Amino acid sequence: MKAKITCPECGKETEVQTPKNGCLPFAKCANCGKLIQAEPPSCCVVCSYSDGKCEVSAVKGLTKVSDKNICEACE
Ligand SMILES: [Zn+2]
Ligand SMILES: [Zn+2]
Repeated sequence: MKAKITCPECGKETEVQTPKNGCLPFAKCANCGKLIQAEPPSCCVVCSYSDGKCEVSAVKGLTKVSDKNICEACE
């Protein structure tokens, strides 16, 4: 599965491949090259910076906590 995350540095979208069995703790922005790291308390950049969820959360049918961006797969 692929997800689009919005880089907090340059504000552009970058496409990442989400792992099947876990979270994606960091990703590199294709535009500015910044290493995007998950925003605490989440440990997942997909749940932090995309409008969707990572694959583990999606498979479990978990919903995103929009105000905190916590990755429920991390818990
Ligand atoms: Zn960027
Ligand atoms: Zn996640």
